[in-house]
Amino acid sequence: MSEVRGPLDALAVPRFAGIRTFGRLPLLEEVENPRIAVLGAPYDGGVSFRPGPRFGPAAVRDASILLRPFHEPLGVDVFTGVQCADAGDAPAVPVDVHEAHRAITERALEVMAAGGEFATRVIGIGGDHSCALPFLRAAAERHGPLSLIQLDAHSDTWDAYFGEKVTHGTIMRRAVEEGIVDAATSAQIGMRGPLYAAEDLGDARDMGFDVVTTSQLFEQGPAAVVARAIERAGPAVYVSFDVDVLDPAHAPGTGTPEPGGLSTREAQAILRGLAPLAPRIVGGDVVEVSPPYDVAALTATVGANMAFELMALIALGLRAV
Ligand code: MN
Ligand code: MN
Repeated sequence: MSEVRGPLDALAVPRFAGIRTFGRLPLLEEVENPRIAVLGAPYDGGVSFRPGPRFGPAAVRDASILLRPFHEPLGVDVFTGVQCADAGDAPAVPVDVHEAHRAITERALEVMAAGGEFATRVIGIGGDHSCALPFLRAAAERHGPLSLIQLDAHSDTWDAYFGEKVTHGTIMRRAVEEGIVDAATSAQIGMRGPLYAAEDLGDARDMGFDVVTTSQLFEQGPAAVVARAIERAGPAVYVSFDVDVLDPAHAPGTGTPEPGGLSTREAQAILRGLAPLAPRIVGGDVVEVSPPYDVAALTATVGANMAFELMALIALGLRAV
């Protein structure tokens, strides 16, 4: 096994210098045996309200330059303990959702293949939440049906928006229909905000998801909700983080903001609580960062840090095997 190639040395090349890669990591093509790679999906043709996440991957990379290699709460050396890399962006065209998604799946599969028999774990950086569907397709192709842990203010299980079946509000229904997500082993955490009708969340529950509203999360306690998600999960777990699960005070730069959400610290605690699942986490994404609506790069910074949380979980899991 070759040496891990870590980020640029911040004491030799200052953090704010140089061309941006996620966490100042090497590019995928520059490393051997990549274990974790971030892959941008700069596509936002699936939004139903405010646009802008096509600029998410660039903003998240820009905000990621302060990330340091060691994740103290989990006690894991992420960037220097496991070979991580930046795989660039999938060439997603802005005018055709199906073509954009095809390009994202294709690139995600290439990135996974770079790890050989071991499929490199891909952390997708959106893009709107529709981009989770092509990432899920790629992960399921390598690992089989997935247990989804979705942190989001919305369940994204509508059947259609404006007559279109593939949007950021419908992808989780599509994923279940395609058999790539097993709802019976999956959880959706953080739902809130005004609904179109009472049955909106009932539909997701009828599909089999454990749907936890933000109010229920705090009534039952995050630890109990996380314990239930762990209990339900199958052998291959995928974590999808829609930044709108956070309160707009913590993540204003997003397309569908819903007041009354989680703080950054609460979201970190939930993700860190998934540590018992770490060896089973085969991929994840951070989506819906919309830089045109952001303030002081708050949302891009939180996006970069949530991606780092996912990488830390995967690195922890790899250490255990
Ligand atoms: Mn969503
Ligand atoms: Mn959402």
